[in-house]
Amino acid sequence: MPEGLITKALSGYYYVRDGDQLVQCRGRGILKNRGQSPLVGDRVVYSMTDNGEGSVEQILPRDSELIRPQIANADLAVLVFSVIRPELSLTLLDKFLVHTEHARMDALLVFTKMDRIPEGEEGARIRGDVESARDLYASLGYEVLLTSAHEGEGIDALREALAGHINVFAGQSGVGKSSLLNALIPGLTLETNEISVKLGRGKHTTRHVELVALPSGGYLADTPGFSQLDFAELGIDQIGSCFREFRALSSGCKFRGCTHIHEPSCAVLEAKERGEIAGSRYNNYMNFMTEWKETRRRY
Ligand code: GDP
Ligand code: ZN
Repeated sequence: MPEGLITKALSGYYYVRDGDQLVQCRGRGILKNRGQSPLVGDRVVYSMTDNGEGSVEQILPRDSELIRPQIANADLAVLVFSVIRPELSLTLLDKFLVHTEHARMDALLVFTKMDRIPEGEEGARIRGDVESARDLYASLGYEVLLTSAHEGEGIDALREALAGHINVFAGQSGVGKSSLLNALIPGLTLETNEISVKLGRGKHTTRHVELVALPSGGYLADTPGFSQLDFAELGIDQIGSCFREFRALSSGCKFRGCTHIHEPSCAVLEAKERGEIAGSRYNNYMNFMTEWKETRRRY
């Protein structure tokens, strides 16, 4: 039986991309009986019925499942930050990374609006900050791109990085996500949360994510991800393991479940003393732990 990828779900139909064809499918009752519900991004086995429609027979095992937007098998989070207006925030960046690490997705860091950095002293400071951030995150194993949607800087590299993945863009409103997408695929803009809210609750809940095929291969979710960045869904012991360099060291900590804050013989604290962990990363970790406790207090 043929296989394909669900790129859209609407009014009880699943649209399955199989090569050049887009097959309109119903879900088989057998899936429902098993308590399975196909998601956009699912790779599925389908069959053709007599009336020319398809029927989803089986959902192939998922590599990941994201909640916002609800999508299966997304494997690359494209985290977009502007370098100016708004200025790059390493706190927000680390917060996004906690969420992508928790979702077991790789992250691509895109620093954009490079063309907007002014000449002179202020510009030199911003450029210096951007370059040290790039070096820090590259040293942790994240791919970092410096781009300008207006002048085309880094757009070819971005296109190449997205190819072959199911990509989800994320980033504050106004950082330049739509502009980057427009540089990649003219005419395409992201369905923003603001728009959904303006349309009212009813529309908001019926709005479904759709995967758009990229000309260079791979797909892009047309809804941005990780919109609500709080820690409500994480356990407090999971935050540390979402910092890659902590995770790699934590087997060397004396105590199991070490919080890396006050314990003796903590491999993370020792690495920090040796200057092997960036101060900004450790500070953000501490702040997130505090924020987590405050979030819990509210419930
Ligand atoms: P989004 O909300 O993340 O989708 O952000 P937009 O793509 O709508 O961009 C927000 C604003 O920043 C708009 O006024 C854009 O024209 C501007 N902008 C986006 N990218 C760039 C860029 O690379 N250079 C400059 N100078 N401005 C940009
Ligand atoms: Zn520790």
